[in-house]
Amino acid sequence: MSLRTWTGPLHGGIVILGGGLSGLSLAAHLAATRPRPGPVLVVDDAARDITAASWASWTRRTALLDSAATETFDRMRVYAGGHDRTLALGHYRYRVVHGAALVAAVRRHTDPVPDVGSVTGHVVDVDDADRPLVTLDDGRELRPDWVFDARGPVAVDSRADAALDFLGVPVRAEDPLFDPHVPLLFDFRTDQTDRASFVYVLPTDAHHALVEHTCFLDPANPGVPADVHLAALRVYFSEVLGVAESAYEFGASEQARLPLVAQPAERSDGHIVRIGAAAGLLKASSGYAYEQIQRDCEAIASSFAQHGHPFDLPKRHSRFERYDRALLAAVVERPGFLEDMFAALFARTSAEPVLRFLDEDTSLRDEARLFASLPAGPLIRAMTGR
Ligand SMILES: Cc1cc2nc3c(=O)[nH]c(=O)nc-3n(C[C@H](O)[C@H](O)[C@H](O)COP(=O)(O)OP(=O)(O)OC[C@H]3O[C@@H](n4cnc5c(N)ncnc54)[C@H](O)[C@@H]3O)c2cc1C
Repeated sequence: MSLRTWTGPLHGGIVILGGGLSGLSLAAHLAATRPRPGPVLVVDDAARDITAASWASWTRRTALLDSAATETFDRMRVYAGGHDRTLALGHYRYRVVHGAALVAAVRRHTDPVPDVGSVTGHVVDVDDADRPLVTLDDGRELRPDWVFDARGPVAVDSRADAALDFLGVPVRAEDPLFDPHVPLLFDFRTDQTDRASFVYVLPTDAHHALVEHTCFLDPANPGVPADVHLAALRVYFSEVLGVAESAYEFGASEQARLPLVAQPAERSDGHIVRIGAAAGLLKASSGYAYEQIQRDCEAIASSFAQHGHPFDLPKRHSRFERYDRALLAAVVERPGFLEDMFAALFARTSAEPVLRFLDEDTSLRDEARLFASLPAGPLIRAMTGR
């Protein structure tokens, strides 16, 4: 149980289904907002230990849960198209949030508020016939005014434009292999024959890092087996880093397959609103969701405070859906396009313009400047469908 145990009534107020990243973040934002929209109850089935999770993301603003960030970087490294580049992040910082620190940061906001808490339970049904009715598998029924549905993980289905399939593993190396000050976000020195792939290295210190092998796949592709990911990482260590297998150790790996959806489905149905990855907040062209989730939770809490409902949210410009769809189609059609594109996009001293674009915070003029450097053929084919 992440929050204080709920002992209040099971009707009225707000119920959040899923106490993962978005569920807890929304509880914190609602607890911190005045006027408060009423009691807030988080229901989670405890299937996933959130204190063992972690999220990395870039941001250039201050936010409610900033104290959860335990590592902060002001540079990033990209190896693409034969070029090894370390880029400044400008106004951005790349940050890592560990689950235990997130829970502590959330509780700093929820603990002082008497009517915010959580219960353990597995939700089996959510209905909005008259007013929301949430049913748990032990027969308990909740009748809130509003439901925020953050149940995850979200499966890859026919609506996905691509799938992001990755395996991450903590590594301990005998020699000082890693630069503790610079995360390596994309290293394309891994096989690109059947799928666009890169290696990601998030250092803890010179001897320890989280290393991931990530692939962009056609959504119909059943996925990359764990042993294929691990073999790719072993090849990376031996052939790229030149390290013998006896000189490093892999810990327990974690694999995931996330849907990349350029145009998410409608997220609300009456008084039931999806949040988090279930609402399509995973950015389709990057696979990152942390920062979008924080901004969304802030906007929902502010909408409640101003209007008494959660619908006054910033609108996303439809051109970003078109860009995401075109980029993913081009990458699925020709895997080598991803490396070509990143080599072109990151051929600069600061990553800020690219990060702003991925944050959908650019003007048409900014985008024209960025696109002018891109390999045009596959993108134009994807945008025109030919
Ligand atoms: C392994 C992995 C690593 C990731 N790394 C990053 C990263 O570094 N940076 C980034 O920006 N994004 C990352 N993401 C993407 C995204 O940020 C995460 O998936 C994030 O946790 C999504 O938050 P969420 O609240 O939507 O879902 P989750 O955090 O998955 O929370 C869903 C919760 O719902 C609960 N639940 C599910 N079904 C029920 C039910 N029926 N009843 C009750 N409870 C239920 C689950 O137990 C879980 O606690 C990663 C995703 C994965 C899978």
